[in-house]
Amino acid sequence: MDTTSVARETVTQKALRLSPERTVEPLGHGRYSVEGTEGTYTVDLSISGREESCPCPATKPCYHIAIATVYRAKARARARREQHQRTTARASRANVTRLGALGG
Ligand SMILES: [Zn+2]
Repeated sequence: MDTTSVARETVTQKALRLSPERTVEPLGHGRYSVEGTEGTYTVDLSISGREESCPCPATKPCYHIAIATVYRAKARARARREQHQRTTARASRANVTRLGALGG
């Protein structure tokens, strides 16, 4: 029985354990610069319908692709939250304006 494969964490688990904010830098257009232990690689997540690309020699999907994917998911969730907060703030400002108009 191969116990090493059981004990070894997956690239996704490793990516989730480490902070993507510290090692991933967005380059725009779906490309991310990922700082790994062996060096920094540019991961391309923009290729739709095809496998994401990373120039590192590891078996794909590699850790760099995994952490870039985690980073993108977190960034999208944050953007959605901020969008919601902006919408809420705008709505409450509009209410204040309406109340002001009534009072004046
Ligand atoms: Zn890689």
